[in-house]
Amino acid sequence: MAPQPGFSWDRMRAELSGLPDGQGLNIAHEAVDRHVALGRGDRVALRLLAKDGTRREVTYGELAMRTNQFANMLASEGIGPGDVVVVLCGRDLDLYVAVLGALKQRCIVSPVFSAFGPEPIKARLQLSGATALFTTRALYERKVAALRSELPSLTHVFVAGSEHTHPDDTIPVAPRLDGADQHFVIGPTDPETPSLLHFTSGTTGTPKGAQHVHGAVVAHYATGRFVLDLDPDRGDVFWCTADPGWVTGTSYGIIAPLVCGATLVVDEAEMDPARWYDILAGEGVNVWYTAPTAVRMLMRAGTDVAGLDRARPALRLAASVGEPLNPEAVRWGADVLGIPFRDNWWQTETGGIMVANDLSLPIRPGSMGKPLPGIEAAIVSCDDSGTPHRDADGAVQLLAGAAQGMLALRTPWPSMFRGYLNEPDRYAACFARAGGITWYLSGDIVRRDADGYLWFVARADDVIKTSGHLIGPFEVESILMEHPAVAEAGVYGVPDEVAGAVIHAVIVLRPGVVDDEELQRSVVAHARRRLGAAVAPRRLIVAGDLPKTRSGKIMRRVLRARELGLPEGDLSTLEGARS
Ligand code: ATP
Ligand code: MG
Repeated sequence: MAPQPGFSWDRMRAELSGLPDGQGLNIAHEAVDRHVALGRGDRVALRLLAKDGTRREVTYGELAMRTNQFANMLASEGIGPGDVVVVLCGRDLDLYVAVLGALKQRCIVSPVFSAFGPEPIKARLQLSGATALFTTRALYERKVAALRSELPSLTHVFVAGSEHTHPDDTIPVAPRLDGADQHFVIGPTDPETPSLLHFTSGTTGTPKGAQHVHGAVVAHYATGRFVLDLDPDRGDVFWCTADPGWVTGTSYGIIAPLVCGATLVVDEAEMDPARWYDILAGEGVNVWYTAPTAVRMLMRAGTDVAGLDRARPALRLAASVGEPLNPEAVRWGADVLGIPFRDNWWQTETGGIMVANDLSLPIRPGSMGKPLPGIEAAIVSCDDSGTPHRDADGAVQLLAGAAQGMLALRTPWPSMFRGYLNEPDRYAACFARAGGITWYLSGDIVRRDADGYLWFVARADDVIKTSGHLIGPFEVESILMEHPAVAEAGVYGVPDEVAGAVIHAVIVLRPGVVDDEELQRSVVAHARRRLGAAVAPRRLIVAGDLPKTRSGKIMRRVLRARELGLPEGDLSTLEGARS
């Protein structure tokens, strides 16, 4: 639904119920208990699709009861407010109960992607100072047990599962949950109470821990309503394909849809086009939130995949986040699914969607849309390397009208991060003043057109300056993808004595396309025609795949380092790394 005139965060907050007796605002209360109190206890909250094809439904009433038991279990084991609880589970019921139950107990919850190998898991447990880990026996034995001696602050390891045997240094939860009280009173939760700790994707370097608060739920609710068009009275069927180990999978794969009273489809399995079309059709998904990498995989699979024709009917809205969405992908959605993908932009740091092609906005393919109500965006003047110009006092300069520069957001907004874990200076460096106002500097370079639409250019780290032109890889990648042989492209700059930098591209071909000189010439010719000789890639490398983060983002820094024989940097989130 389009935002009503007179939007304010206070009005959004007023549509939530808050804890009884003015005890504050708790995410889990708004996501679960509120619906039970409003008479929606029998509505299905989670529809869990297991890898083996079994399907299980859990109502809001049952979820309230189970999360109460989980919170009681934590309390009886001495895990309390402010303790960091890392949740390391596959996408099954245990994960959702643990995250919401720990939020009820006012713990700081850090969901960690279960496909990570031991090292990234250890790093997150160490950095966060976690006192408790909730996981499965299998994951514990494979990924944590051998490192336990290096985790002195980790006093409690809870293992899920119905088995009665468990490793010595762990606590089996099944018997404790069975006996736990089904009632739990959430303690006072000031909106500034820490809630979630999310690590960034690690696209540009070592992942950062972004700290969030319970008050963020106001932004999750507002964006769930206005961007994802979820209506608590209607009760939509919603599917977010991101894993809760990434911020999208928690903000929009748990919190926003539940706060908006939706039925949340959860698929335990990995991406597979035929399975995904089956889910869209079989579950009657109304609203679907996914990522460009997944859309490109569907495009690559073609239109002969079983189930595609049935996937359309219930779908009302398809949205995408995480990377720039190529115009080709937007149009493909319209052609093949009957609705275009609606791109939106946000970050781990922003906690929720900030810029979007919401339903009220005519889509301009390739644009991320416009800032949402309640969000004021500005364009900060930058130098050629993507660094903001600052005056002697450190203030930045905002550009008016159509302009290109760093995207900045006026502080505060409810879901804004409140710190980087153990890195106060880095946090402070994200903010700058302009015109007496404090702005958050996103690190992304965007262009604003005359009508206020925002177009992603590049991460400041990825900007390429070639022969005096400032180029973002995305623009070149999108042009390469227009060529019928190209499924994906990753573009980066390599140093050049004459031009400063020249553009190189790694491309992945569509299935069945043969790589030969003629093909390469044809792709380069297309790029030259569309971009001009100065900006078209000087070198084209055909590869079987692109290095990506486990959340699906192209790691251009790795492409560049590989070609130049430089150290590849932090690869802890690289897809395919040992798990
Ligand atoms: P790290 O900060 O560790 O390098 P990351 O920035 O990829 O990793 P996330 O917070 O998961 O970590 O991703 C946010 C970033 O993803 C944004 O800053 C932006 O660069 C990119 N992004 C997200 N959505 C979009 C979009 N719709 N269009 C273009 N880029 C996007
Ligand atoms: Mg980032």
